[in-house]
Amino acid sequence: MTPASCFGGRKVALFGLGGSGLSTTRALLAGGADVAAWDDGEASRQRAAAQGVTLEDLTGADWSQFAALILSPGVPLTHPTPHWTVGKAKAAGIEIIGDVELFCRERARLAPDAPFVAITGANGKSTTTALIAHILREAGHDVQMGGNIGTPILDLEPPTRGRVHVIECSSFQIDLTPGLAAGVGVLLNVTPDHIDRHGTVEHYAAVKERLVAGADQVVLGVDDDHCRAMLRRLLAAGKSVTPISQNTTDLLGCTYYARAGLHRALALGAGRRLVEPLASLAQARALRGAHNGQNAAAAFSACERLGVDHGAICAGLASFPGLPHRMEEIARLGAALFVNDSKATNADAAEKALLSYDDIFWIIGGKAKDGGIESLRPLFPKVRKAYLIGAASDDFALTLQGAVDYERCVTLDVAIERAAKDALACDAREPVVLLSPACASYDQFANFEVRGNAFRERVGALVARMKQV
Ligand code: ADP
Repeated sequence: MTPASCFGGRKVALFGLGGSGLSTTRALLAGGADVAAWDDGEASRQRAAAQGVTLEDLTGADWSQFAALILSPGVPLTHPTPHWTVGKAKAAGIEIIGDVELFCRERARLAPDAPFVAITGANGKSTTTALIAHILREAGHDVQMGGNIGTPILDLEPPTRGRVHVIECSSFQIDLTPGLAAGVGVLLNVTPDHIDRHGTVEHYAAVKERLVAGADQVVLGVDDDHCRAMLRRLLAAGKSVTPISQNTTDLLGCTYYARAGLHRALALGAGRRLVEPLASLAQARALRGAHNGQNAAAAFSACERLGVDHGAICAGLASFPGLPHRMEEIARLGAALFVNDSKATNADAAEKALLSYDDIFWIIGGKAKDGGIESLRPLFPKVRKAYLIGAASDDFALTLQGAVDYERCVTLDVAIERAAKDALACDAREPVVLLSPACASYDQFANFEVRGNAFRERVGALVARMKQV
């Protein structure tokens, strides 16, 4: 744990008692603060009380006694409307901050030079964070990874000079971190997301930009208009920036993905360019697809900036096991490959998987989102057959009609059996049984993890059964 000592001897209000709120409460108490903790939900309050947290009803509290409001990132700060605690804190004139800010203050006090990589973006945050941490660990570094992925930041070991913190930051966390000053700041991309919580995409982009504007060194995706505008501003401000791209680009110094590998364009003088190959991704099975090319380019550039040599970075890229539920290759049976992409809860995410494979036996469905799978029509030729499950079956059948052979399977179990049978009987070099549902899971499973785990379990059982035959 990293004790948060900056409020030692003072009293703070803390609102939001989910996982990160409980972690923050423990860290503040360990740092000597007096914490008035509260949550609107009875169940959250009871869980916190059971863990020894002293609750204090903030609704009727005297807010002049608090030095700050420590807010959980899940609680609205600005949109759709500020939470009632935000109004109370503003009226009392106290700052409103989150757990990443407490970490930054502790780092500034204990070890301001301790390596600190912060990663954000609309998509690819978790993959890139896990990949950077993996490369650094394999290269022999003492690594602490967490934030918006896995362990809450204040549950990690404290910063010291020889220890690298690799931290995934959501836009909500950045919004609560006015003093965010990473050694290396990574921003992958900005596409409209969480607009309900940020009002406009411009505000969302501006929040993301703060992570890179406050960093000493920057790794920046330049494949969308928002990020390209940021590049101009960062360079004008004199920042040291490595641009990264999913495509060949004219930008000198850009790390880009092409022909199954990473490259960089360098100036040779007299207007000539040299293309330097950096790393092949041909063996990196967990980094298939151009979107993972962007994640790999970001990880390469961030690790390079931390002083890891190219050989060690290439080894780490090749040995990265990937994250569960994101194009996770879980089994092989004969020529057939089984891929768990349960995290693909919308068409945009499923698109990445369809782009990454050919000869696909596609398990889709669940609780449909607006727009359905119409946007994926150009990729339908890659699909040999679709297996429909859950509430979205009627909608999806209408879209697929006449374009893709499909079968209504109702449940995941049936879909796996049918897709595996067809994949094994086909003539493709590598048929892929792909769960990339383009839907939320809530109609049949509690969340995408439960759905992905069910897929893994049942595919495992099927493979074991078939191998006995
Ligand atoms: P996040 O943490 O930002 O949600 P993840 O690394 O968990 O991102 O990936 C979630 C999904 O987003 C993946 O299954 C894939 O469909 C898509 N994705 C991953 N990386 C990228 C990227 N660099 N650009 C666009 N989409 C991506």
